[in-house]
Amino acid sequence: MNSRISLKAAAKINLYLEITANRPDGYHDLVMILQSIDLCDRVDIRKIDIDAIQVLCNNPEVPCDLTNLAYKAAALLQETFPSVGGMEIAIDKRIPMGAGLAGGSANAAAVLVGIDRLWDLGLTESQLCDFAAQLGSDIPFCVGGGTTLATGRGEILSPLPDLTDLVLVICKPRQIAIATAWAYQTFRSQGLLATSQIRDENLSSQIVAAIASGGESAPTKIGRLLYNDLERVVLPEYPEIAELKNKLLEQECLGAMMSGSGSTVFAIAADLDRAQQIAEAVRTDAIDVWVVKSLTRSVFDA
Ligand code: ATP
Repeated sequence: MNSRISLKAAAKINLYLEITANRPDGYHDLVMILQSIDLCDRVDIRKIDIDAIQVLCNNPEVPCDLTNLAYKAAALLQETFPSVGGMEIAIDKRIPMGAGLAGGSANAAAVLVGIDRLWDLGLTESQLCDFAAQLGSDIPFCVGGGTTLATGRGEILSPLPDLTDLVLVICKPRQIAIATAWAYQTFRSQGLLATSQIRDENLSSQIVAAIASGGESAPTKIGRLLYNDLERVVLPEYPEIAELKNKLLEQECLGAMMSGSGSTVFAIAADLDRAQQIAEAVRTDAIDVWVVKSLTRSVFDA
């Protein structure tokens, strides 16, 4: 049996994020369309002789203690399956933090998938998603990835047809990290649910239809239908992010939007050449920029 496994764990963006209700448990009912992108951390899991979970990361800002989502994922499977022994989890971090790109969630999903394979647990994707849901709202999506409609708190998943060649420019203001909880709490405390900005009730159905339509015109249609309710709290608080989005929209892109609770803003480009031009136009010392394509999986062999 193998004693180590190396996996890639992909970031996600939100093509759509609508808050539809405040839930009594403090969470929110959401309609989201999530898309895996080719901006990945690498997660190496190695069996060790002592009965412990050791997390290492090349980025000193990532906590390597029991608050790390990768640690929590490993601890959950260790508690549930006595056969799962000690392990070292080494994370090569490329996905920026506090970015709305679900980097921590992607790491946790990779650990669930990796442990299942290393210890031959034989779990189905649906069982892995049940464990993932106990750890965080975005983690079930990160187990499978691709293009997905997520409802409930984000854990009820319906796969959509794969967007295979979506070209994206991902922009992260280096100095701005946003806590997801702050964004949702502010949305709630400002009572923004009562003043929806969505003019067309069928907006989410329209973007789902645009994705399903496939073909060459799909990116153009999707670009026009991007939406994120959390922009309503984040952009006024962080004018730099609003400015970055405007700068992207001034370029020849098919649409631009903040991802999740930010601070990442992305643009859809017609092709790779155009994406490179957009990237050059917005890249500064203060803004990290990646040109990436959509992925059909979130966790895969490194
Ligand atoms: P989301 O889109 O889910 O809100 P995010 O992209 O905003 O996520 P993450 O990279 O997931 O942000 O990290 C958010 C916080 O989670 C970090 O500030 C960090 O303290 C903590 N964290 C726990 N585990 C990890 C991990 N494996 N990688 C990165 N951050 C982690």
